[in-house]
Amino acid sequence: MEKRRLTDEAELRRIYEASPLALVFFKVKGKEKSPWLISQGFCDLLGHDRESIASELASGQNEVPCEDGKPRSVHVTIKGKKRQFLAQSQVLEFNGQDYLIVDYVEGETNEANRQTEALVDRLETIPGQIYKGNLWDAVFRSKDIGVFWKDAKRRFLGVNQRFLDYYGLQLDDVLGKTDEDMAWNEQNEAFRKAEEEVLRGQPARSWGATIAKGRSQTIVTYRAPLYSEEQIVGLAGFFIDVSEQQDKIDELEKEALQDSLTSLRNRWALDHDFIDRFAGKKIVAMIIDIDLFKLINDNYGHRFGDETLKTVSQAIRDVYGDEHCYRYGGDEFLVICDYVPESELRRRDQVIRQDLLQSNILGTVVDIHISGGYTWGRPENLQAFWSLVNTADKFLYRSKENGRNQITGGPFFDKK
Ligand code: GH3
Ligand code: MG
Repeated sequence: MEKRRLTDEAELRRIYEASPLALVFFKVKGKEKSPWLISQGFCDLLGHDRESIASELASGQNEVPCEDGKPRSVHVTIKGKKRQFLAQSQVLEFNGQDYLIVDYVEGETNEANRQTEALVDRLETIPGQIYKGNLWDAVFRSKDIGVFWKDAKRRFLGVNQRFLDYYGLQLDDVLGKTDEDMAWNEQNEAFRKAEEEVLRGQPARSWGATIAKGRSQTIVTYRAPLYSEEQIVGLAGFFIDVSEQQDKIDELEKEALQDSLTSLRNRWALDHDFIDRFAGKKIVAMIIDIDLFKLINDNYGHRFGDETLKTVSQAIRDVYGDEHCYRYGGDEFLVICDYVPESELRRRDQVIRQDLLQSNILGTVVDIHISGGYTWGRPENLQAFWSLVNTADKFLYRSKENGRNQITGGPFFDKK
């Protein structure tokens, strides 16, 4: 096969002018570099024709990367519009002439910036005099949005009035300070890490507690890196107060974890409570189940059954305290309490039992009987906790097998 050789500049031009890459060949004469060839790819990228690009590149306003071959950031301004590229250059010698070939690569940030700029350009053309300045004013003057910006060391450079009002501060109280200096975040470390990520170029959103005017409030904060000449020089942030929404969430969460009939916490609250309050502690788990409850329902009706459940729950919580009692299932209650010896558990059981004899339910006096199963241990994790509860359940089953109206318990066993 015949090897093709480039013999003249015209051929070189033909090949590279059609290139989809964003290439510019500069002819090098001593210290002078003049644009000689501009690829189709570069014209497409800039959206201008070859001639105007060539004349602007030649105008001296545009820097030409030097020939050390290292990729570097350069600005290209065509018709007053400045764009940022990563330029990779190399030198080619052809027929005794040096050419500097520059490959302009557009980074992701550039693409995003270009889109934003295009958007702002478009908005600026909307009749009614909307421009960057008054758009910013609208945000800055907001009564709901706290605005702040910081330097690369996370020190406040500026905040808006809403920010100051929210925290009850004067501008001088904040300027030059970090969040740690202000001591208004409940989780300083997490906050600092999140902002450092932002300063590495990752915008972030956080939902969390802050102390404003001595009260704990919930805010959502949005932070984004601040760029100048493609360098991150700080961050800009916005926050809104979401304390009301947080209260609603808390309320819904509480409802979801509460049994509506007895107002005891339900079994779904157990995972959370275990981690919060019981993990690693020596505790007793006792399951209490009403004897022959089906018969109560059958003989007196469902509403009577409901009232019976309330009466039993009251008798149990009177002895153990609200925070230790759960409605575990239909007619089953779970007690989780600090360790006490079996003799004490039996004493408490007697108190509950006595309370349930001759109960007045909706005007009818009935004896309510219960059975229980208990065990004790020091569960370190949720899995161990649930096997403790299962063991108590197995002891409950023994009480039922042995004729009901009694409690049975023993040391925690893992299997069976
Ligand atoms: P055992 O002594 O073996 O426990 O007999 P039991 O009849 O109590 O049997 P079991 O514990 O299995 O029965 C529970 C019954 O509780 C079945 C179900 O219809 C009834 N139940 C469950 N939840 C409610 C409720 O919210 N209200 C009423 N009234 N009844 C309920
Ligand atoms: Mg029962």
